[in-house]
Amino acid sequence: MKNLFGLTLQELELELADLPKFRAKQIAAWLYQRGARSFDAMTDLSKNLRADLNERYEISTPQVIAQLDSDDGLTTKFLLQFADGAAVETVLMRHDYGNSVCISTQVGCQMGCKFCASTLNGLDRNLTAGEMLSEIIFVNDFLRAENKKVDTLVVMGTGEPLTNFDHLLKMLKLLHESYTLGLSYRKVTVSTCGIVPAIYRLIDEKIPVTLSISLHAPDNKLRSELMPINAAFELDEVLGAGNDYAQATGRRVTYEYILIGGVNDTEEHARQLAKILAGQLCNVNLIPINPVDERNFSRPSHNAVQKFFHFLDTHNINVTVRKEFGAGIDAACGQLRNRKIFK
Ligand code: SAH
Repeated sequence: MKNLFGLTLQELELELADLPKFRAKQIAAWLYQRGARSFDAMTDLSKNLRADLNERYEISTPQVIAQLDSDDGLTTKFLLQFADGAAVETVLMRHDYGNSVCISTQVGCQMGCKFCASTLNGLDRNLTAGEMLSEIIFVNDFLRAENKKVDTLVVMGTGEPLTNFDHLLKMLKLLHESYTLGLSYRKVTVSTCGIVPAIYRLIDEKIPVTLSISLHAPDNKLRSELMPINAAFELDEVLGAGNDYAQATGRRVTYEYILIGGVNDTEEHARQLAKILAGQLCNVNLIPINPVDERNFSRPSHNAVQKFFHFLDTHNINVTVRKEFGAGIDAACGQLRNRKIFK
């Protein structure tokens, strides 16, 4: 049976062409704003229409198979399972400026970054636009019970969003619609390991989301060791695309830089980083690594983080250190899924 969840209003209208148009609007509101997970719950549709819809369609949304709350109550991580059994992590972070949801874009990941838990078992499949949207709507429904809603989106969970471009774009456009969350593109951050042609596509599409680029090393040799994608798109190209994105959108690009003890956290690395970013409209976000059991990397010392930060800060680079969210609840991308699914 055809799943109606994930369709745009226009697609719903086409699908339900035998009904008056306002029915599609009602159904969209039930799906995306009013938390209905069955046609029977759509109480302003006649019984006959509900029965008819039940025969022709389904509403397929994921089930929660695990939920972990951090001790401070600020972070909740969900493991959501789709009808085919595939499961992904979705994280709710309660910031003082609002509720942020971090979604996965793929089941697993094929990028192979050496420090990351999401890629340990490779890529199973892309998520569809409807599946990504369902992660966000799930959290929005969850928050409704607290009279709250999703305020910002970070596309930073498992998967490389820019290798699932068409579905990503459809999801972002859907989320922007007034019959879903009406979320402004400025409230969305998309994180990429640096798929250069897709960054230019994003510029062409004029979807002015905040772009976050995972850099993690200031030279090609080290970056290639940590991130195999660097063989396809080297630092120069990635930084060029980041610069072009900032120029085209007028928005600062964030460069993510994981600090790994003894690997990329010395003053010399900071110096090189400041050099290659000089003059760019950007921020650097330093992330002390979340060590992953299967990987042989350790946290940087507190002192190393401070020094790295200070160096950039005093060399004209906008820099922040990521606030730690959800430590103790398998916070690194993919850790909860790996524990539940693969062990
Ligand atoms: N594929 C995209 C988005 C998913 S990863 C990307 O590469 O940006 C989201 C961020 O988490 C990236 O910056 C990634 O490098 C980082 N990350 C992955 N494993 C991590 C770990 N063990 N500790 C801290 N950050 C990690």
